[in-house]
Amino acid sequence: NQMREAQRALETPLFSDLPGDIAVSFEFFPPKSDKMADTLWESVQTLKPLGPRFASVTYGAGGSTRERTHQQVVRIQNEAGIPAAAHLTCVEATREQVDEVARHYWEEGIRHIVALRGDPPDGQSTYSPYPGGYANAAELIAGLKKIADFEISVAAYPEVHPDSPDAQADIDNLKAKFDAGATRAITQFFFEPECFFRFRDRAAAAGIDGEIVPGVMPVLSFAAVQRMSGLCGTAIPHWMEGLFEGLDDRPQARQLVSATIAAELCRKLYAGGVRQFHFYTLNRAELSYAICHMLGLRPKGDAA
Ligand code: FAD
Repeated sequence: NQMREAQRALETPLFSDLPGDIAVSFEFFPPKSDKMADTLWESVQTLKPLGPRFASVTYGAGGSTRERTHQQVVRIQNEAGIPAAAHLTCVEATREQVDEVARHYWEEGIRHIVALRGDPPDGQSTYSPYPGGYANAAELIAGLKKIADFEISVAAYPEVHPDSPDAQADIDNLKAKFDAGATRAITQFFFEPECFFRFRDRAAAAGIDGEIVPGVMPVLSFAAVQRMSGLCGTAIPHWMEGLFEGLDDRPQARQLVSATIAAELCRKLYAGGVRQFHFYTLNRAELSYAICHMLGLRPKGDAA
């Protein structure tokens, strides 16, 4: 029995065996101050040598970060030389307004959009389309494809989007987004590998053959993750609460724990055949860098 347990344990490759045959991407959010802009830029510089296939910048609720998202996207692509992806939502904008933002990106050489519906504006509990706006992500994708041949990434929900009546409707919606022209789906963050594997199976069973990339969230603040999880339907496993208990005043220990949890998750995903990873960096490089490093990724070429 002990031998069988040992055998099972040995079947998962150790970090030291991983050849780094993975593709990674990094997500940032638009900074609110000059200081935050500096932190973002340092993070971009730190992560760049890992050769990400793209870096994306989120779009604030209701288009509130329209200018700042645009600025960072263009800077990441033109100054850091990383292919950049701009997040874009349907919230509080007409189709014409959204189209104009997209056209502008295309003119500036940005070829990749993360196309999202977005969340209801503050004070509204359920989503309703803006008058004259795109109703959902699938409609947005169709609209974008009419403007130009953008590469398009979309959102996917291993634990089912809170607005979705059931898991099948959610998968059907994801299929509709691929059918409308999406190249890949990036998942909402999750903490149990089984959660991703089950979702991948459901998607395959629904005939989805596009890329599904796990979105990995290294925990910077457990309280913040708890808040976010409540909003987006991600379950926080019990064991995780226990692991962060008592570490509120120990940022360094907390960071080690965070890195270990995220690296372990990624290692299991890797063992399950996953070769693409998307990191929610929260504009900090170190955790994402460390996890990529453990997955075997090393600085590339002259950037090393
Ligand atoms: P959709 O795919 O349009 O669908 C949302 C839900 O509505 C699904 O449950 C779907 O099943 C249901 N639905 C849609 N259309 C129909 C229909 N016709 N009939 C029945 N049901 C339907 N938000 C931001 O504001 N800015 C960002 O930058 C941002 N980036 C994100 C990046 C990633 C990787 C992820 C995973 C999420 C991101 N979000 C962002 C959050 C996202 O906007 C919200 O989760 C939003 O509530 C749903 O957006 P969506 O594109 O998934 O919507």
